[in-house]
Amino acid sequence: MPQLALKRLQANIKRCRLCENMQSEPVVGVPVLSKVMLIGQAPGIKERDIQKPFAWTAGKTLFKWFATLGINEEQFRNKVYMTAICRCFPGKKLVKGVAKGGDRVPDKTEINNCSKWLKKEIKAIQPELIIPVGKLAISQIMPVNKLDEIIGNQFRLEFYGQSADIIPLPHPSGASTWHQREPGKGLLKKALNKIQKHDAWQQLETQ
Ligand code: SF4
Repeated sequence: MPQLALKRLQANIKRCRLCENMQSEPVVGVPVLSKVMLIGQAPGIKERDIQKPFAWTAGKTLFKWFATLGINEEQFRNKVYMTAICRCFPGKKLVKGVAKGGDRVPDKTEINNCSKWLKKEIKAIQPELIIPVGKLAISQIMPVNKLDEIIGNQFRLEFYGQSADIIPLPHPSGASTWHQREPGKGLLKKALNKIQKHDAWQQLETQ
């Protein structure tokens, strides 16, 4: 797909207002035709304001991880297609009507609504390597019980009609400390090593 068509697809995504409980316009990444696709959960409030995926604290941690593979944030954004299970900010988690804790997890209808865009992106990009970040994103591709059982592994799966290698990562948000202590720390390193060795990742270096 030429880049112009991908830009057109993103423009259509930006116009979407299907989910009435979402609290922002859709956020999209750089329209790069990459063989590597990163899938997050949904933008946070800062991503809504800055209009970039992973633009705040979780992003800082995520890009620190990738910096260990020799790629900085700007290079990553321009070489890897960044998308999400839902493109709009879901709002804060409410406890008895009061915002508490992290962001609301998108519900099944919202995930289903937004999957039509993800399907189109997968068709357009045809990624060879997919990196789902966090349990919600991973669970759209494969069953996930404990992160310990899947992080650090590579899977060959079909996702929305596209056969691709899947290397899942934990969510870098401060809400989870799984990746800061063992076995999470070691498994995260193992996953990043697998990403670095993947052919599609190696090709990014030549782009
Ligand atoms: S979450 Fe997705 S489907 Fe829902 S309004 Fe935003 S872009 Fe549209």
